[in-house]
Amino acid sequence: MNTKDLISIDMIKRLVSFDTTSRNSNLLLIEYIRDYLADLNIDSHLSFDDEGKKANLYATCGPQDRPGILMSGHTDCVPVDGQDWKTDPFTVHEQDDCLYGRGTTDMKSFIAITLATLPPMLEHGLKIPIHLAFSYDEEIGCVGVHRLIEQLDSMPTKPKLCFVGEPTSLQVVTGHKGKYSVRCHVHGLECHSALTHQGVNAVEIAAELVTLLRKIGQRLREQGPFDEAFEPPFTTVHTGLIQGGTALNIIPKSCWFEYEIRNLPDHDVTLLLAEIRDYAEQHLLPDMRKVSDQAGFSWETLPSYPGMTVDEDSEVANTAKGLCGNPSSAKVSFGTEGGLFQVAGIPTVVCGPGNISQAHKPNEFISLDQVARGEAFASRLMAQVCDA
Ligand SMILES: [Zn+2]
Repeated sequence: MNTKDLISIDMIKRLVSFDTTSRNSNLLLIEYIRDYLADLNIDSHLSFDDEGKKANLYATCGPQDRPGILMSGHTDCVPVDGQDWKTDPFTVHEQDDCLYGRGTTDMKSFIAITLATLPPMLEHGLKIPIHLAFSYDEEIGCVGVHRLIEQLDSMPTKPKLCFVGEPTSLQVVTGHKGKYSVRCHVHGLECHSALTHQGVNAVEIAAELVTLLRKIGQRLREQGPFDEAFEPPFTTVHTGLIQGGTALNIIPKSCWFEYEIRNLPDHDVTLLLAEIRDYAEQHLLPDMRKVSDQAGFSWETLPSYPGMTVDEDSEVANTAKGLCGNPSSAKVSFGTEGGLFQVAGIPTVVCGPGNISQAHKPNEFISLDQVARGEAFASRLMAQVCDA
């Protein structure tokens, strides 16, 4: 395939050249997009993080007085540290009909295609607006987009549909799992390890809770609820980090561990979260308090996001299937910002160019065929939202 037939290649190269690894500022990229839009007479609304080092960008192209179609993408990407890259990850390298670089698939090509298609859309005249929502800190748990969604309330209109352009090979995704992440601190009482009866061993208490989490995970695996469209078809529970204690001859006074629940979108996790806390408070705490009235637990919610689910025959799903040129739909286990837009009352599906199996890896790439399909999606969209 010849890149000369594609209008978004230069924009893909430009966006990839900004190292927007989540720990970095994304402001240079956001300012670049803001200036690009300003040249097209489109105003951008930025919402910043607490330090002012990162921003979301929201813009409406076309008429401002009616609801339009929201194109949602994240501007950050995952780190390249420790990965074996054969070329510079932030310089797009073209080889064998593929573009290599960090973010080519996840998900700067979608943003680039959306931006590159705006000039012809504006030329034809938009009757239905295109809203742009480009966020920061998606890769660390959909953290940044909350501020953009809050900002939507002050906009004259709310989008009527949302497409999240995460890589799905342009197949419409109508559901994904949610993720709830928690850090639990166990507060015990330190003493000489020969005097176990005088201390509260925080590591052992934590171990009891980790065991409970494992049992809950096994129960969900055996008893469901199930949705066979997901892999695996049940809600999962796992403990990923644990740390505690200072020396073998000291009863540990403190231990923390982090766990997550990845739930089917229709599976309410509040009961699971309560089950874990209730066990701690009702079964473990009384014995801890007999030794120390300072002993106990504290719970910290880490970045989390809800699952997403829409009806396969909903307007948003059918519109997206038409634009993708693919009548099938799927559900995926990886999370996106889609659940948050849905909670905000905007019907949402996920569909974007590139294959998720190429994301987050060294030598990430997108095929030119996927870029071409992405541009075909955009030109079908243009036919729907433009006057002529
Ligand atoms: Zn992504």
